[in-house]
Amino acid sequence: MKINPWKYKEEGYLEFTDWQGVKVLFSLRNKTQTFLNHLRHQGVASLHQIHSDKVITVNGTGNYEGDGFLTDKTGFWLTVFVADCLPVYIYDADKKVIGLVHAGKKGTQQFILRNAISLLIQEFNSNPNDVFLLFGPSICPKCYDYNMWSENIRQAKEMGVSHIINPEICTAESTDMFYSYNREKGTKGRMVSAIKLNIKVINFS
Ligand SMILES: [Zn+2]
Repeated sequence: MKINPWKYKEEGYLEFTDWQGVKVLFSLRNKTQTFLNHLRHQGVASLHQIHSDKVITVNGTGNYEGDGFLTDKTGFWLTVFVADCLPVYIYDADKKVIGLVHAGKKGTQQFILRNAISLLIQEFNSNPNDVFLLFGPSICPKCYDYNMWSENIRQAKEMGVSHIINPEICTAESTDMFYSYNREKGTKGRMVSAIKLNIKVINFS
């Protein structure tokens, strides 16, 4: 199967390397626990996910309630657990802010991605032209009764964000690599989406 522009890592995860100063990862099936143990050494912020529209700004590690978060702080991971739901990675390349959103059917219908971009603009004064989005592996519209991909693209464009990468990798079609909640009738297995800001670029002027 195609995973481009993600790169496969033998340790059992995918890595996206196009965003400078940012680490973007997605763990594969059966690798979640070892992957998480690895991330925890560096610090993890996680979400008690409730299929809501709630997005918050965080400044450090911890477990927060909601389905999306943003940070401009370096050195720890933002993580979201998924199996068919769409994880949206967010990067403001100018303001050096990252974000991660858990956009399932319910969250998408409640406009969670629109909320995340709106919070990015409010709190960090982001210009939508500097904002980049990447869609993680998730269930495609042929395998599910709802099109999370097109609806989230619509919400992003409505907010003025047009740099959107959707590799269109379907979890339900590749259960050798991914868990699929729908294909596997409610599996408890989850993959981890993770993003970390490594470098805070300081402009001297
Ligand atoms: Zn599919």
